[in-house]
Amino acid sequence: MLNLKKSILLILNLLFITPILSAQQLIKTNNPAIWTQDYQPFRIAGNLYYVGTYDLACYLVTTPDGNILINSGAQDSAPMIKAHIEALGFKFSDIKILLATHAHFDHVGGMADIKEATGAKMMINAADAQVLAEGGNSDYVMGGKGPMFKSVKADYLFHERDTVKFGGMQIIVLHHPGHTKGANSFLFNVKDEHRVYRVLIANMPSILDETKLSGMPRYPNVGKDYAYTLSAMKGLQFDLWLSSHASQFGLHEKHKPGDPYYPEQFIDQKGYDDELADLQKSYLKKLAEK
Ligand SMILES: [Zn+2]
Repeated sequence: MLNLKKSILLILNLLFITPILSAQQLIKTNNPAIWTQDYQPFRIAGNLYYVGTYDLACYLVTTPDGNILINSGAQDSAPMIKAHIEALGFKFSDIKILLATHAHFDHVGGMADIKEATGAKMMINAADAQVLAEGGNSDYVMGGKGPMFKSVKADYLFHERDTVKFGGMQIIVLHHPGHTKGANSFLFNVKDEHRVYRVLIANMPSILDETKLSGMPRYPNVGKDYAYTLSAMKGLQFDLWLSSHASQFGLHEKHKPGDPYYPEQFIDQKGYDDELADLQKSYLKKLAEK
């Protein structure tokens, strides 16, 4: 009798209580429609593919040993990312490594679901690990109101400059703090039948309105870190420029759904330099505000 009661309780728990609790625990975020709007996936260059939403850029790097996914989009984006990967002819279950440009809900919101479905290893900069593990609740700007996305405990932590060596790929992880403490850009080579392309997936150092560069309670060095990142990003050498949001690198001006394979459309040093110069201006303006 006791066992039966116990089993019923266990079943009830599995069926109802767990999902309701986890759904209730997340606070609602404001997601612009372009963040969840669908977008046709495509091959960017060599073994690098765009699998994100209309604006939240997610990248798949395929290798003979399994695949690497960079960014997941927002909470509930996992089914769309999965459909994009499958539409390109790859297996979702072949994702072995998960990377992120920074631990905000619009770039890591789907990580928990993807990690659970694939068993992939999550790697993140050490300085973003706690924010990731708390569903964003310890973020220095957005945190404090409750978790915004399903939390993920990272399997590996990056410290400053690190390299992911996997399946013949060497992905250099560049620590570009400011937007979050552990924001990263990624620099790596891909190649096709014709040539090698040096790819930069840049985490552009945009500053949220609520940020005070004189120091935030949870991030006293935020101003100094932005200054470091703006200067470190100026000297980067690459062929193809991509970033965390499609709008940042002008995806929709450069590529239309159904366009033929054409990596050169992402060669845009000037676009990158101009964007960085704009961000430098915003930084100086913000610095004067105090
Ligand atoms: Zn962000």
